[in-house]
Amino acid sequence: MPATRITLEESELPRQWYNILPDLPKPLAPVLHPATRQPITPDDLAPLFPMGLIMQEVSTDRWIDIPDEVRDAYRLWRPTPLHRALRLEKYLQTPARIYYKYEGVSPVGSHKPNTAVAQAYYNKQAGIRRLATETGAGQWGSALAMACRLFGLECTVYMVKVSYHQKPYRRLLMEAYGAAVYASPSEHTRAGRQVLAEHPDSPGSLGIAISEAVEDAATHADTNYSLGSVLNHVLLHQTVIGLEAKLQMEKAGDYPDVIIGSCGGGSNLAGLSYPFLQDKLAGRRPDLRVVAVEPEACPTLTRGQYRYDFGDTVGLTPLVKMYTLGHTFVPAGIHAGGLRYHGDAPSLCLLYDEKIIEAVAYHQNPVFEAAVTFARTEGIVAAPESAHAIKAAIDEALRAREEGRSRVILFNLSGHGNFDLQAYDDYLHGRLVDTEYSQAEVDRALAALPPLA
Ligand SMILES: *Cc1c(COP(=O)(O)O)cnc(C)c1O
Repeated sequence: MPATRITLEESELPRQWYNILPDLPKPLAPVLHPATRQPITPDDLAPLFPMGLIMQEVSTDRWIDIPDEVRDAYRLWRPTPLHRALRLEKYLQTPARIYYKYEGVSPVGSHKPNTAVAQAYYNKQAGIRRLATETGAGQWGSALAMACRLFGLECTVYMVKVSYHQKPYRRLLMEAYGAAVYASPSEHTRAGRQVLAEHPDSPGSLGIAISEAVEDAATHADTNYSLGSVLNHVLLHQTVIGLEAKLQMEKAGDYPDVIIGSCGGGSNLAGLSYPFLQDKLAGRRPDLRVVAVEPEACPTLTRGQYRYDFGDTVGLTPLVKMYTLGHTFVPAGIHAGGLRYHGDAPSLCLLYDEKIIEAVAYHQNPVFEAAVTFARTEGIVAAPESAHAIKAAIDEALRAREEGRSRVILFNLSGHGNFDLQAYDDYLHGRLVDTEYSQAEVDRALAALPPLA
């Protein structure tokens, strides 16, 4: 019998993060200042981020040391296990070998603390007193709330309003860690008041919540801003997932043919796949496939355009070249709140544009059907975001069966769904709506983009 769980010793916890920037097929397009439209400098970012993170954001060093204090925090839950999904394979009667890296064993139940603890550490080092951030479903907010507590910082979280009401338990978790949580759009910022004046019933979006958190940080000297995905340094920190998984796959005597991750801003997919993509980019594994999975209700890669856009709704952040649905896009209130972002990480977008990675989009109902199959075979109730990766992995396994060919599938089970049981209730009782974003809406939001190449 092959092993069901492939684990690592604490001593095997990676000592460095992997930076993909020097290995990309071409350099990233420069990030532009929102007002001048000129390339931003590290000093432009200094009101929001500590220099340690800014230098990581622009670094072209392939390997970056993980500070001892951060490795100490990682040890609370890392290394995380790699599972072989033997029961799922048997149920699907597939010749494919399915592996998943399980990030749900972290204290808050997702991969997000991998960067939260690193960001809290560098901010503490820089003498910052408080961090402000946004959160969708509450996964990122709870990760940062915990990390702030571990490093002695205060934490303010702007939580997308629809999730604030749909997911009270994650708000309570943040409050248990001592964070202040506001439903966004809120009355606490000019950005929030501006949105409320136009749309009093706005369900909120990550883009709006980012505007609020950025404004909070920019207007308080002792406060910095913290982002849970998209930025280069966030993806960098998340590579601890893939570096562990590479060791674990080696122990299992296998190497993936296809790597799958759900894609909100791209950090869990990049975190798992980039250390393997290094092999592909170097020509050692030319056939390796990497698949981003997104919701049909927020199809950034599959239906967006590759061009400059703001990271937030109001237009306070720098302009970034990425696949985008337009910064004014407000997605339907699907349960996978962590996947409701209009853009994606620049490096991931470049890899997609160069056709080095692929993307697929699914509706909620088939995603939850896959999640229920997974719970009934592997025992873990997945986060709605992670369930997108399960759906794609099952489809790959079924294709392998049809083709009568074996295939090694590795996916990121980025979090558990123990706080998302309402979503399962809605699915099991036929209350989930599959919303499609119409082409007219896509065109309207994209027409509002700044006229840059
Ligand atoms: C936030 C979140 C995601 C999506 O964000 P990425 O940056 O794309 O990883 C996926 N899964 C879970 C469990 C999350 O909390």
